[in-house]
Amino acid sequence: MESERHEIEVRLREALADDDLTLRYQPVVDTATGELVGVEALVRLMWGERMLSPGLFLQVAEESGQIAKIDGLVLIEAAAQVAAWTEQFGRSLELAVNMSGAHLNRADVFDEVLGVLERTGLPPDQLVLEITEGVLLSDADEAARRLELLRRVGVKVAVDDFGTGYSSLTYLQRLPVDILKIDRVFVSRLGLSAADDAIVRAIIELANALELDVVAEGVETDEQWSILRGLGCARSQGYLFSRPLPAGEWLKVDRPAV
Ligand code: C2E
Ligand code: MG
Ligand code: MG
Repeated sequence: MESERHEIEVRLREALADDDLTLRYQPVVDTATGELVGVEALVRLMWGERMLSPGLFLQVAEESGQIAKIDGLVLIEAAAQVAAWTEQFGRSLELAVNMSGAHLNRADVFDEVLGVLERTGLPPDQLVLEITEGVLLSDADEAARRLELLRRVGVKVAVDDFGTGYSSLTYLQRLPVDILKIDRVFVSRLGLSAADDAIVRAIIELANALELDVVAEGVETDEQWSILRGLGCARSQGYLFSRPLPAGEWLKVDRPAV
């Protein structure tokens, strides 16, 4: 509805002005052992008592030109949080943040990311920027150049929702990438048929051949986890291990039990 769209836009502007975005952190685990290796930061928007998921406001944020600012605030808050956890747990955790095309297209994105790493003390090799192939729709060469600059200082780049785009294999050749995240539509079909398993197997083999890390998204059942172990998928993420949690709930368990 147009009026609700407008209200979300106004609420977003207010939340950005007050630095009032809400974050959730979802564990990423080693598929073989279930051990925690990192977290993905996921943004939420409080609206009165309601907590809106990105599906309800990201498009408005993009259309109203607010998405890059959201990404920037998520990055700084999450980097500070994960730097603190790294110290607290006594071992390094990887932080994945989602980066929109609008954010990557900012002329000062390199300095911004570096500045955040410096200020928070998060080591560059603990930061993963998740992009989708959508970033290539505007200016692929420029996007690739910026990502390459960030990779040179140690930051990693993941392709999110891999397998759902129409030019997946093309951009793998063009984009400097370290990690493929297998979209949950494929993971959700694991075990249903030999053909469904074959798609996930093929993505894992592709990642191995290109020497990329691979993460399965949206793992919800023991059966899916067991198939992924069998296929040698390095990392997994999904409700089976944990839903995205507020930082405070992680702090209650001084070492997350995943
Ligand atoms: P994504 O980056 O692919 O993140 C994974 C989404 O899948 C999250 O939804 C997560 O809550 C959900 N999920 C995780 N495990 C499971 C599972 O086992 N089953 C199911 N059904 N879902 C699972 P969420 O948090 O609603 O985020 C949706 C999308 O919004 C994200 O997809 C990402 O593309 C975007 N997004 C989230 N935070 C940000 C942000 O800070 N900046 C930008 N630019 N985009 C963001
Ligand atoms: Mg993501
Ligand atoms: Mg995804």
